[in-house]
Amino acid sequence: MKVINAMEILVEEALMNYWGQLQLPCKCEICKTDVYAITLNNLPPRYVSNEDGYAYVKAQNFDDQSRVNILNQIVKATGIVATRPSHEIEPSSYSE
Ligand SMILES: [Zn+2]
Repeated sequence: MKVINAMEILVEEALMNYWGQLQLPCKCEICKTDVYAITLNNLPPRYVSNEDGYAYVKAQNFDDQSRVNILNQIVKATGIVATRPSHEIEPSSYSE
């Protein structure tokens, strides 16, 4: 048995689309992955059993309130990572 969490894919897509617009002192892969993980922890998972299920969730999500919700959670997670990055940041690129 194998299931996928459609939310993972939806958040990943949203993150790809909006990453350039997010305000972060560091935009490396570590910070990006941190934002991704925190966002997913704050959103309910949507498990689907196959690709069709995922396509259904995605179609439903397009005009849905949950799309706004995903973006809100990404912005929140960005704020958390911006104030508490999980790794050392060069003083030159870090402003407070
Ligand atoms: Zn970083």
